Amino acid sequence: MPTVFSHVVAATALGQCYANRRLPAKFWLWTAVCAVLPDVDVIGFSLGIRYDDMLGHRGLTHSIPFAAVVGFVGARSCAKSDTLGFGIRDSGFGIWPLWAYFAAITASHGLLDALTNGGRGIAFLAPFSNHRFFFPWRPIQVSPIGVGFFSARGLAVLQSELGWILLPSAIIGLLARRWVRLKPDATGTAGTVV
Ligand SMILES: [Zn+2]
Repeated sequence: MPTVFSHVVAATALGQCYANRRLPAKFWLWTAVCAVLPDVDVIGFSLGIRYDDMLGHRGLTHSIPFAAVVGFVGARSCAKSDTLGFGIRDSGFGIWPLWAYFAAITASHGLLDALTNGGRGIAFLAPFSNHRFFFPWRPIQVSPIGVGFFSARGLAVLQSELGWILLPSAIIGLLARRWVRLKPDATGTAGTVV
């Protein structure tokens, strides 16, 4: 996997698509949770679950169906924040774009993992299939799990992620912010970055 840090950075870059509206902390909290939640499956190692099992690492929690479910829960949770100023009903900003957003953030985790040069492939279709997928091109150095991160290899991983995740994320985030600034909002006026 890329490091947890890089998953959150990539997700925050995608979140800049909503930078033309004031969003509650809950939105950004869910953004971070969706980005890292798939790796909750590493506890399976201590429970005796094998890497290749459906519930093993890079299994069910890294799948597209799992991302769809988590995305819906995140969207529902943020929609309930409407009374706290989220403004979904007032602006016509429905729950479905939010669902698509949180699902995409969760799915981005597995997609980034599939670009790494180590570990097993990703079970994108679980629970319907446990087939593990990798992209044919895998430039990202796989991150060691646990304390191995604080090592020379960990440093090499950070260097790899700097070039393949962090810099592209910064560019995507800046472009997204610029795009939403130019895009008219629901009232027909240009959005305002907050
Ligand atoms: Zn992962």
